[in-house]
Amino acid sequence: MRLTLSITLAARVRPKPDFSVKPDMSQQKLYYFDNNATTRVAPEVIDVMLPFLRDMWGNASSAYQFGSQVKKHLDDARAQLAALINADPKEIVFTSCGTESNNTAIHSALATSPGKRHVITTAVEHSANIKYGEFLQRRGYEVTFLPVESDGSLDLHVLDQAVRTDTAIVSVMWANNETGAIFPIEEIAAICRSHGVLFHTDAVQTPGKLKLDVKATGVDFLSLSAHKLHAPKGIGMLYVKKKTNYQPFVIGGHQERGRRGGTENVPYIVGFGRAAELAMSTLEDENTRVRALRDRLENAILKTIPNTVRNGSKEPRLPNTTNIAFDFVEAEAVLMALDQLGICASSGSACTTGAVDPSHVLTAMGISPMRARGSVRFSLGLYNTAEEVDYVLQHLPGIIAKLRSISPLDAKQPDNETFDLKSARQAKDEPAGQTR
Ligand code: PLP
Repeated sequence: MRLTLSITLAARVRPKPDFSVKPDMSQQKLYYFDNNATTRVAPEVIDVMLPFLRDMWGNASSAYQFGSQVKKHLDDARAQLAALINADPKEIVFTSCGTESNNTAIHSALATSPGKRHVITTAVEHSANIKYGEFLQRRGYEVTFLPVESDGSLDLHVLDQAVRTDTAIVSVMWANNETGAIFPIEEIAAICRSHGVLFHTDAVQTPGKLKLDVKATGVDFLSLSAHKLHAPKGIGMLYVKKKTNYQPFVIGGHQERGRRGGTENVPYIVGFGRAAELAMSTLEDENTRVRALRDRLENAILKTIPNTVRNGSKEPRLPNTTNIAFDFVEAEAVLMALDQLGICASSGSACTTGAVDPSHVLTAMGISPMRARGSVRFSLGLYNTAEEVDYVLQHLPGIIAKLRSISPLDAKQPDNETFDLKSARQAKDEPAGQTR
């Protein structure tokens, strides 16, 4: 009796959940230049998803009509994704994200060839590969993280030499999320084929920006993630070439023809399918209008702000990405100042135990930790306008000048490459390990 009463009281006093969640940014216009981190869900994508949340919420694996009708839309989305990459719909396995797709490809290659305990990837991959590679090393596997050149490119001879008789898989990203550098996937696939080794590519950053054709490139596995192409977070796919030996990573029900357990996330898959269609139709816009906006932003920054340099090669590069080092400032301070103006951009640095680690991608390119810590990525997208680029260009020079005027990183230092932040701070009687 007492228990019933207290539950009733608790229910009565509990505040109602607030479903009117909006970012604080709703007060201020958002200038979004971080499309490699995630993209806005396209209204066309939301429209096709809603019926599957409201009305057609059946389980696609159920035998009755309420299920089989849903299944039909799941199959349509599979065909839309297959069309995006020129695959057969049967070769598409839906996953929860790009990370799961990458992990699955590598796991599958190792699990289906137990005698092979070596994996090749690169030092500039997304953490989905780097961290999984380190995990495998701790489990006794051997993982080669291939180095890159100073412009971010891969030496294919080094890759060729790295392949061993016990190599189970080579996993190399198609385009880099931090610099936009594009790797020659067709040539890498040919090298792998010549050694009889499986090849996976993380193509997460490419849809809508590059033409994707798994048949022409000859890859065995390819990962995509919906939230990079104007669909929601939490849904991804793995292309698995026909007749490739395969072992699921998520083990459970017979969904995805036994290749990935877990009830299919139909609303998100349907949205992903529509986004794939849109990505094909916007390829032209990304490669002309968005590219021109990116170039205008990059050229103006390099021209008007002293001591700036583009990280990585100008080409071959994604049309939407620019990564710029602003010497003598710290990227985190730049990003905070931009944020005050409603501008979203990012740095590849990671905050670990209170200290800012420079981007592993930039340091792998031989860029000094200090220059890497002053590097900012702007990644544009379909919704960016010329006015938005102007807004950034109007404010950025002033932000950099102001930060430099109070920075312990002294522009008079002759050698920025070897300049040491810690000593500079000590020289200015400031405790090391703090960022301004
Ligand atoms: N691979 C690349 C190149 C990425 O940029 C990302 C996300 O930033 C991922 C993989 C991981 O994708 P997800 O966030 O869907 O796990």
